[in-house]
Amino acid sequence: MTTTHASDTTPTPLLGKVALVTGGSRGIGAATALRLARDGADVAVTYVNGKEEAEDVVRRVSALGRRALAVRADAADAGEAADAVDRVARHFGALDVLVNNAGVGAVGPLDGLTLADVDRVLAVNVRGVFLTTRAAAARMGRGGRIVTIGSCLAQRVPMPGATLYAMSKSALTGLTKALARELGPRGITANVVHPGPIDTDMNPADGPYADGQAAVTALGRFGTADEVAGLVAYLASADYVTGAEFAVDGGLAA
Ligand code: NDP
Repeated sequence: MTTTHASDTTPTPLLGKVALVTGGSRGIGAATALRLARDGADVAVTYVNGKEEAEDVVRRVSALGRRALAVRADAADAGEAADAVDRVARHFGALDVLVNNAGVGAVGPLDGLTLADVDRVLAVNVRGVFLTTRAAAARMGRGGRIVTIGSCLAQRVPMPGATLYAMSKSALTGLTKALARELGPRGITANVVHPGPIDTDMNPADGPYADGQAAVTALGRFGTADEVAGLVAYLASADYVTGAEFAVDGGLAA
């Protein structure tokens, strides 16, 4: 008599694909890396400070039987952002899925935001995404998938203090729609995912502003990184979805 293990029947729609998740050492990026690996992909992650955390993600991806790689690459550095894509494509021999996840927040009243804040947020959240995406698109063939992590604040801003961050994340919607038009003929899709308040180091569910954020969602709670990862994984394998925005925000934008 043969025994069927649960893993024997787990669907692996990304088997044989190579995925790069920027900012994959913690939070939404780490959860996404692991979810893509469970779905069959070999996975690379970038990080800046979280070397040990990134290596832990590599260990966990490898334990799932997938190939894994961690690359230190600061998305704020124009050279490093594009080089990371080259290193990953060389290492694995291909690149099929890019998840633009690396991002930084800077909240506070207009007058409190410094020029350095503006430059940093735009460098990581906008310029880094553009340069990483351009490098990845150059290496993707038909079936390439680009999923970018935006923010619910690109759709609706229910509280003050988000000017800079919301501006940076809104740029990703324009990028995504234009990418869909430009890369569609090559069979490459591009979509943007807008998380609501998600319990991570960036925005802990027990942080000082947490109650107010949970209160403006329809479900009255923070989401988890795994809940975002599930939507990203869907878009990484969906064929006829492109140029679209998806909220995973507990109904914040409702
Ligand atoms: P975390 O701060 O928990 O994790 C951020 C990740 O990005 C880490 O792996 C970090 O690496 C990496 N990272 C930060 N800066 C850079 C950089 N310059 N270059 C490369 N990697 C970098 O954030 P979240 O998981 O919460 O956020 C992930 C994405 O989701 C971001 O784009 C964020 O804006 C977006 N988002 C988050 C929401 C939330 O409520 N949490 C809501 C809406 C959107 P390292 O460990 O090395 O620092």
